[in-house]
Amino acid sequence: MNAATGSPPRPQFPVVDRVTSLIAGQRTSAPGGHEIPVICPATETVVSRLREADAQEVDAAVRAAREAFDRGPWPRMTIDDRKDVLYRIRDVMRANAQELAYLECLNTGLPLARIRDHIARAARNFEFFAEVASTLKGETYTGLKGFLTYVTREPKGVGALIAPWNAPLALASMRVATCIAFGNTCVLKPSEYTPLSMLRMVELFHEAGLPPGVVNLVNGRGSVTGTALVSHPGIDMVGFTGGTHTGAAIMSAAGRHLKPCILELGGKSANIVHPSANLERALDGALGGIYSNNGQQCLAGSRILVHRSIADEFIGRFVERAQRIRIGDPLEDTTELGPLAYRDHLERVLSYVEVARSEGAELLTGGRRAPGFAKGYYMEPTAVLAKSNAARVCQDEIFGPFATFLVYDSLDEAIAIANDSPFGLVAYVWAEDLNVVMRASREIRAGTIWVNTTLVRELRAPFGGYKQSGVGRDGATASVEFFTEQKTTTIPIDPAPLPQFGRQTR
Ligand code: NAD
Repeated sequence: MNAATGSPPRPQFPVVDRVTSLIAGQRTSAPGGHEIPVICPATETVVSRLREADAQEVDAAVRAAREAFDRGPWPRMTIDDRKDVLYRIRDVMRANAQELAYLECLNTGLPLARIRDHIARAARNFEFFAEVASTLKGETYTGLKGFLTYVTREPKGVGALIAPWNAPLALASMRVATCIAFGNTCVLKPSEYTPLSMLRMVELFHEAGLPPGVVNLVNGRGSVTGTALVSHPGIDMVGFTGGTHTGAAIMSAAGRHLKPCILELGGKSANIVHPSANLERALDGALGGIYSNNGQQCLAGSRILVHRSIADEFIGRFVERAQRIRIGDPLEDTTELGPLAYRDHLERVLSYVEVARSEGAELLTGGRRAPGFAKGYYMEPTAVLAKSNAARVCQDEIFGPFATFLVYDSLDEAIAIANDSPFGLVAYVWAEDLNVVMRASREIRAGTIWVNTTLVRELRAPFGGYKQSGVGRDGATASVEFFTEQKTTTIPIDPAPLPQFGRQTR
């Protein structure tokens, strides 16, 4: 696509006219219904239309998932057979990576190079959770004299899986893989803004041999399709990745039916740069932490806390580099920053420039729509220096290429600022002084601490947030806990005495 002129993208792969639901392996074709344009954020052109699933269609999808769970082969398959299918999904995703990447790029505006990493991750998710499922272990207890008790794990049922728009392939694949690997079935609802790659992904699952009904797809707005799905009585659990307010609404809806939830929510993560740090690496880490993924990532190091002794130099060099970031066509391999995902979101992110000004923050760089683009939701890499952590630019998740700097004087102060947030998803610490590293990593209340590195996702380890950044964890052990039920079976080794009701002679 020509980002400068906004001319429509040159199609590299076919794009469907209508994004519909996909239920029991079949795309739905019901006429009518509410339609939503699917827009390419780089050119502002309509590239497809989404036909929204209403409550009736959601019901059909849940029934298909229920049927596949209650009577279908998936939960009853040997784990080796299930693993074969999950491995084939991995292979099919890799084989179709270019098409998936194109669709995701067209619809999200994320730079292609970044999406390639997401697809590698997505494919790996299926392989990884196939391994986890195939090594599930039970427990046995013989402590009760004369009895053998064993504990098995069983799939939990039908999952409602709801995904956001900021990295659909990476995040929806995580939700789906953790759910189905253990024999569950699901209904996936992607964001109404970014359904294109999701439809193709679910089609590919079926091309890989996934039995119909195991993964069903419904599309539409959260207020219509999402609420119908979460509150459907056929759902056994809810997996959600998205904003904190939505997560709270979903958890209350699910709570009314006592459905367990795993929630991966927002963040406003601190990125502490200590004077003992390797400042070259800290600079790379700070820029990558906020500007990768077009700044739209839950993990963003969006509050950069710099020690006063190095602040001028560090901030100066950050600004210089931020101004050299290549903004442009996300389909170009050289692009570092693409457009934001949709118009309202761009306007929301830009509105924080005014918020910053009104709070007395200093605009260090950026703050405008990127010049030179006739079309597209492009924004300059932006950075502000806030006066205090109480400012909204320090407390709110802005979710764009918008860095907020704060200057600190002592490690105690930096840790206190890091913790003074409603969120607690991740934190970054740049320091060569081991005591600083150990203290900061122990005292910061966040689910993941990255020391002298950024955005490394160890799938085996738990991932999730403290405070309003989430409930529960993804990961080898945590996903087993959430997506399986434990069943305890007790059997006497020898016939054990039983109560003798009604045997006594009068
Ligand atoms: P969002 O909360 O607006 O929407 C997420 C999904 O929820 C969409 O599919 C939407 O249609 C659906 N939805 C909205 N209201 C609903 C309702 N009442 N019932 C059911 N579904 C509903 O989030 P977003 O704007 O798409 O994504 C950005 C947010 O996601 C950011 O806050 C970001 O930090 C967060 N996020 C978190 C993680 C993580 O792992 N912690 C990862 C990525 C994104």
